[in-house]
Amino acid sequence: MFKKLARVSYVKTVFWAFVFILPFAYIQNSVIQSDSGLVGWLIPLFASVFLGVAWGWIYERNEQHQREKLLFKAVADFSLEFVSLRTVEGVYQYVSPAVLSITGYQPEDFYQTPSFMDSIIYKDDCQAWLSHSHHMNDDGAPEKVEFRVVKRDGEVRWLEHLCGTVRDPSGHVIGVRSINIDITERKLAEHQLEHLGLFDPLTDLPNRRYLSDYMQKLIAQNSTYFDELTIHGEHAGEFAVLFIDLDRFKYVNDAYGHSIGDALLQEVAGRFKHSCLEVEQAMIARFGGDEFVLVTQQSTSSAALQGCVLRINQLLEAPFRIEGHRLSIGATAGIAVYPRDGVTPEALIQHADAAMFKAKSQGLSMAFFAHEMAEHATEMVDMQTRLRAALKTDCIKPYYQPLIELKSGQMVGAEVLARWILPDGSHGPSPGVFIPVSEETGLIGAVSETLMAQAGADIAKWQALGVDIKFSINVSARQFADEVFCERAIEQFERLGVDLARVQIELTESVLLNNVERSLEKIELLKSRGFSIALDDFGTGFSSLHYLTLFPFDTLKIDRAFVIDIIDDKRQFAIAKAMIHLAHDLSMTVVAEGIETDEQRQVLSDLGCDVGQGYWFSRPICPEALSEFIVINQRDMTMTRPGKKV
Ligand code: C2E
Ligand code: CA
Ligand code: CA
Repeated sequence: MFKKLARVSYVKTVFWAFVFILPFAYIQNSVIQSDSGLVGWLIPLFASVFLGVAWGWIYERNEQHQREKLLFKAVADFSLEFVSLRTVEGVYQYVSPAVLSITGYQPEDFYQTPSFMDSIIYKDDCQAWLSHSHHMNDDGAPEKVEFRVVKRDGEVRWLEHLCGTVRDPSGHVIGVRSINIDITERKLAEHQLEHLGLFDPLTDLPNRRYLSDYMQKLIAQNSTYFDELTIHGEHAGEFAVLFIDLDRFKYVNDAYGHSIGDALLQEVAGRFKHSCLEVEQAMIARFGGDEFVLVTQQSTSSAALQGCVLRINQLLEAPFRIEGHRLSIGATAGIAVYPRDGVTPEALIQHADAAMFKAKSQGLSMAFFAHEMAEHATEMVDMQTRLRAALKTDCIKPYYQPLIELKSGQMVGAEVLARWILPDGSHGPSPGVFIPVSEETGLIGAVSETLMAQAGADIAKWQALGVDIKFSINVSARQFADEVFCERAIEQFERLGVDLARVQIELTESVLLNNVERSLEKIELLKSRGFSIALDDFGTGFSSLHYLTLFPFDTLKIDRAFVIDIIDDKRQFAIAKAMIHLAHDLSMTVVAEGIETDEQRQVLSDLGCDVGQGYWFSRPICPEALSEFIVINQRDMTMTRPGKKV
């Protein structure tokens, strides 16, 4: 108190009180009421002191208030955030200078126009902003909201707005204070992160997670339709899932490298994005590799979906030009419809995938899901798991079936046939079962590697012992389509020391159908390295004579189907005879498969067939048994007993 009183302001105000009051006291005491005594002086004295102190107190309060205002301004003006104070009516009382850098507007713009903030809120956020303003004006609790503002130059920025009411000592709301922080950079980073989690970085199409969420939402929306089917009609609430796999993509990847493969995927995605989505009003996601999933609600009728697949193929029709290469690609689609074919995203995608597999295996451009496919898919997954384990534990082994020259009875070759040998020595699923599964599931490469490695080692060993026979290796369509297959086979056999001139590759017609030009190139490469080529299962496929002239086959293998009834069925006899003549005219060696009886052997021998293969001579046998067979056959040959069953 004394300190306060000692302040210049108090001394000043008391002094001025004296200056104003004492002359009046003098006039009162001396002129008007002469000599009124001590009391006449004491009252004005006390009044001066009292009024001086009161005046000083008011002056001091005012000074302090001004100082506080200055301090507040000094701090708030210094802030990099846009700080403001407004009345409930929206009149701005303070706006920090940082508003200029954040919004592009001056504090004066806010002072001059009440509720100026309302006019710069981004249109999509207006609703949220207005409800926030009302909340604050209605004495609501402090709030934190995020919204966008449009800067004076049109740029849109994100602000975090922290807001609370200001109350007088009696608790009445007298204003609203706020801090606005520019969070645009953070929002961008968040958006990028979110984008990364939901979009494929290579093609920028939605990814699996997005697809699953999207389908989940559709299912949640549409499930209500099914309660009201009568109102919305038969197809209301349905949607179709198209699993799209690019044809020949693997070939592009293998032949031209991954960077061209990636560029191709980007171009394909670009075409899908720009045309397909507009036309089909659909969502298309990259599922992985060269697989895309399209979800459409437009129409789920078969005709409409067929049209959709057609348009997808038309989109891909024009060749892609990438780094000077002209690349052509097609697509195969499998279709599943919600809720008919599944009620979860996983089931729908899995079923569309199964339908796609079916379409591919039948050479079709599309297929609709059918429930048998689900069973097939389950079996496939089960078999795939078992096959993987079998490969790891070396349970896939080569067996050998002798090929016998019919005229002499001499063993001239052996066909390598895959066998699944269980750990207890018994036989697992037959190759007729596991080879197609390995092809569908992409395990054929691993199966082929393990067989070539083991058979190559066996063959090299026999060749080193002077065994002069030809070994035939079966190569399936998928294997042959693999661009690296030929190089792998050459490299692997050469590394093991196998004489390639004693190895024959057995191909079926279906292997050659895919891409005639490329197949011819591969065959020529294999032949140039010494391999010979056999056309397997002749008579069961297209049996196109055109193919026989087109490809330089060394051997024609007549399918077992023409041997079974060759004795009793005159037509089969006639066909087998014609085939043998035709092959000879084209300078090919003829092998008859599936000879089970001596009569069959005799008839075929009489028809001029060169070589026979079948249970009459030997079943497919393990390498040790083949070694014995070779020894016995050589011994028999020296005793000249042709066609002897072993
Ligand atoms: P394929 O190439 O036509 O093989 C001949 C099939 O006929 C073999 O069946 C063989 O065991 C069987 N066979 C041979 N002689 C007779 C006979 O006198 N009577 C009867 N009933 N059958 C006979 P397998 O070993 O079950 O092979 C079936 C098919 O699996 C093969 O047909 C071939 O297409 C495929 N395969 C087998 N091993 C391989 C392989 O290593 N790679 C590939 N890609 N496919 C293979
Ligand atoms: Ca064969
Ligand atoms: Ca065959």
